[in-house]
Amino acid sequence: MSKYVIGNLKMHLETVRLRDEYLESAQRAITSLTKQQRGVLAICPPHIYLEKFITTLDDVIIGAQDTHEELRGAHTGSTSAKTVAGIGAKFTIIGHSERRAAGEALETVVQKIITALLSELQVIVCVGYNPEGAEETETVQQEVTYICKQIMDVVPANRQKNIMIAYEPVWAIGSGKIPSANHIQTMKLIIQKQIMTVGLADAGEIPVLYGGSVKTDNVRAIISESGVDGVLVGGASLEPMNLVQMVKLINS
Ligand code: PEP
Repeated sequence: MSKYVIGNLKMHLETVRLRDEYLESAQRAITSLTKQQRGVLAICPPHIYLEKFITTLDDVIIGAQDTHEELRGAHTGSTSAKTVAGIGAKFTIIGHSERRAAGEALETVVQKIITALLSELQVIVCVGYNPEGAEETETVQQEVTYICKQIMDVVPANRQKNIMIAYEPVWAIGSGKIPSANHIQTMKLIIQKQIMTVGLADAGEIPVLYGGSVKTDNVRAIISESGVDGVLVGGASLEPMNLVQMVKLINS
């Protein structure tokens, strides 16, 4: 299976000049990728730039960083999954730890996942807590089980598998520290086991990603030693060439 590289630009590129410089640099960088390699590269810009990224970056997957839990309605300042899907974005990240730290509860995360799936988006579900240890492992297990059960209850069968799980230990995000490959592999196996036990999918059908301080100089080891199906990249994604190099490093 090809390995995904997903860049989360967060709230960066605050000016049109910075956005355009990023896009120019990304356009140049992706010329060295084959069409197939571009198909595993995804970038999540701020919502307001989604359309511009979609129309500028040929064959790269463009996704949102979040979408609202309701299908529609009076929710000032929010963006619906349907709107995001309608302009051509392919997926949304849900449950990122920075949103959870701002007060997003698990129930809201679940509702957002369901609404995004019903709106024909793929979903990258983020799980991972502080600190590393038995309690974290148990929380991830419970959350994955709960989320999968909720999806199975309300999402039509043909859309239930449109998810990826990103294991992102909070202490590794933006810190320069990463867990051992052994730990990441264990978490992948635990996540897959929960998915299979609930009956959402067979092992390997739902990609499991790792996120937290991934850089060009550690990505190959993370992938080859832990066996995860791709990486979610924050800080390093602000330089498009890093994402392109990562795609090559883990898909050659
Ligand atoms: C993230 O915020 O999801 C992330 C992985 O960030 P970083 O790569 O900067 O640790």
